[in-house]
Amino acid sequence: MVNASGRSLGALALLGLLAGGVQAAPATITERPFGKTPDGQAVSLYTLTNTHGMQVRITNYGGAVTQILVPDRKGRMGDVALGYDTLAAYVKNANNPYLGYIIGRFGNRIARGKFSLDGKQYSLYINNTPNSLHGGKEGFNTKVWTPAIVKEGGTVGVALTYLSKDGEEGYPGNLNVKVIYTLTNDDKLRIDYTATTDKDTVVNLTNHSYFNLAGQGNGTILDHLMMINADKYTPVDKTLIPTGKTPPVAGTPLDFRKPVAIGARIHANNTQLAYGHGYDHNYVLNKPDAHALTLAARVSCPRSGRVLTVYTTEPGIQFYSGNFLKGAATGKGGKIYGTNYGFALETQHYPDSPNQPSFPTTELKPGETYKTTTIYGFSVGR
Ligand code: BGC
Repeated sequence: MVNASGRSLGALALLGLLAGGVQAAPATITERPFGKTPDGQAVSLYTLTNTHGMQVRITNYGGAVTQILVPDRKGRMGDVALGYDTLAAYVKNANNPYLGYIIGRFGNRIARGKFSLDGKQYSLYINNTPNSLHGGKEGFNTKVWTPAIVKEGGTVGVALTYLSKDGEEGYPGNLNVKVIYTLTNDDKLRIDYTATTDKDTVVNLTNHSYFNLAGQGNGTILDHLMMINADKYTPVDKTLIPTGKTPPVAGTPLDFRKPVAIGARIHANNTQLAYGHGYDHNYVLNKPDAHALTLAARVSCPRSGRVLTVYTTEPGIQFYSGNFLKGAATGKGGKIYGTNYGFALETQHYPDSPNQPSFPTTELKPGETYKTTTIYGFSVGR
């Protein structure tokens, strides 16, 4: 339709919108069936979309983040999270390389699968010889979590709860766990973890998302510039168990205090890199006070201009450069993931803390609440 002045009504409406400020679409959340686990449990897939069109998908199977759609410097949307297309693939490949799942009861390694608490020794499943990794044989990544949609102040989220029974995977105490994923309207995926127990136990929860800011499956992350806000790290032995020391990163290829391409020094002649087959190390985050939510890392991709900024209340972060991704099951859209096709930044307490008296404690007692927050923020740089 055209009015007397010759302008179409559509154009007038657009002018009106611009004059009055463009109305952003409200944030939305939808739920659809994602399939059934082999033992018949129905699982959902949640799609969270914020007011900018950023989109995150989460399933209550293993609490996995299955997709993160964010714009590049030209405004083109791309999926920066590694993952699978089907629930069957998430179930089949839950244990290794742990694409996107919630990890618990204890993230990273516990030496020889043993620890003592209150004078009693506990034995865990050895799934990463000779150690126990990421919660054991059937960690939190293999569980169907109870989901609930959360809508608050114009933002959308999913709350996932799980009761890990006393003795599950060898850990003491009934542990009530809640993980809330929130997609904020300033393009942040916020993860709030809480847990309570009825017996003394150890807890170290994290999320195991792998990112490729050029888009999942689009080559390696070796050109990404990494900054980690840590002056110190926890070097490991050849089985990737910390030695207990926390030396400075200065003068080593593990120094990311200033942004450096991940690939610049990954093959440097260095014992730590040899043990990890690349980066697979916990950094001691610089913190003004132990539980503050502070900047942990910032990663930028020169190809896409996408930037990921990580904030956490946790004392450590595991930088894993996807050294063993080769051979992983086929990813989303038929993408094949190779060595270094994704990186993980797992916010956490230091590996093997239950056996390392000098590390911040991971013990949780009845009456206390385990409470941590991690934020993955997305933006574009030049
Ligand atoms: C660990 C790696 C391990 C990977 C499994 C990471 O969190 O630090 O050593 O190979 O998880 O996919």
